[in-house]
Amino acid sequence: MRKIIHIDMDAFYASVEQRDFPELRGLPVAVGRAEARSVVAAASYEARKYGVRSAMPSMQALRLCPDLHFQPARFEVYRSVSAQIRSIFLDYTDLVEPLSLDEAYLDVSRDKKGIGSATLIALEIKKRIREKTALTASAGVSYNKFLAKMASDYRKPNGIFVVEPHQAEAFIRPLPIEKFYGVGEVTARKFKEMGVHTGADLLKLSRNYLVSRFGKAGAYYYDIVRGIDDRPVEPERIRKSYSVENTYAEDIHDRFGLITELYHLEKRLAGMLERDGVAAKTVVLKVRYHDFTTQSRNHTFPYPVSGFDTLHPAVRMMRDQFPWQAKGIRLLGVGVQNLLPNNEIPHVVKQLSLF
Ligand SMILES: [Mg+2]
Repeated sequence: MRKIIHIDMDAFYASVEQRDFPELRGLPVAVGRAEARSVVAAASYEARKYGVRSAMPSMQALRLCPDLHFQPARFEVYRSVSAQIRSIFLDYTDLVEPLSLDEAYLDVSRDKKGIGSATLIALEIKKRIREKTALTASAGVSYNKFLAKMASDYRKPNGIFVVEPHQAEAFIRPLPIEKFYGVGEVTARKFKEMGVHTGADLLKLSRNYLVSRFGKAGAYYYDIVRGIDDRPVEPERIRKSYSVENTYAEDIHDRFGLITELYHLEKRLAGMLERDGVAAKTVVLKVRYHDFTTQSRNHTFPYPVSGFDTLHPAVRMMRDQFPWQAKGIRLLGVGVQNLLPNNEIPHVVKQLSLF
């Protein structure tokens, strides 16, 4: 029998904002922008009382809660808190599967620290998160991912809930169908049209019928409502490099074309690095000619490359030193290796434009 913990930070982005800006504490806060085309990225518990939810259009949120305070998102800060909680998780197990910046599954079947029970581990993790980040998390403890996930939501915020095997059916029966993990809005509507509003309703349907209505997902619904979920906790594959490349319909023959296409690749790659908050030390430039011969060069820089402002001059320098051959170019690629962990990128470097 496996022991799975699901940890979920409470109203994560909004709580970070209330932590860092005490004047926001106790107030309805939405992370995002009060603009026509924007949506709420996260809502504080005070805002949720008015019906404000994440992914809701900002204007709709403002109609529900005219005193709503909008706070621009600071993903860099959320990512660094995420790295802090992740390092706490890794003290207890190597099997950590993040679902997003603020939640993860932990398989603690092998009790790395010899604590004795999954519930005690979850309590200790909650306490350490609180001490380290001044934020609260909720925990669900059970014997599979589905139940652990549902359990972490059951006593939010700052809660813990344990579902043991003999309690699973009683726990699942009354759950509203739209709360089931893996049942999205569209599926929930479909279920309700079929008269399925709760776990108890879902239990009445046969596997064949569910598969005929939902395909492969139908089998998943049939299993989870019975507390069956064999999916393993899959630790994150640590990414070692990022790269982008493009094959051209017509070979590039001139310097201007080369510079333009490299510029587009740099922009794409920089966008990926910025999105993931990643910096790297080594840049790779790759070229394939029309006769399919391929050349690549890499260069390690003394400063971290983390966005277009640092990537562009790095690629330009490599371009100028590259042993170009006088042949048409059919493919160009730009990449980075030697990634620095997010929490090792000095804050000033992230903001500094070196050129
Ligand atoms: Mg959360």
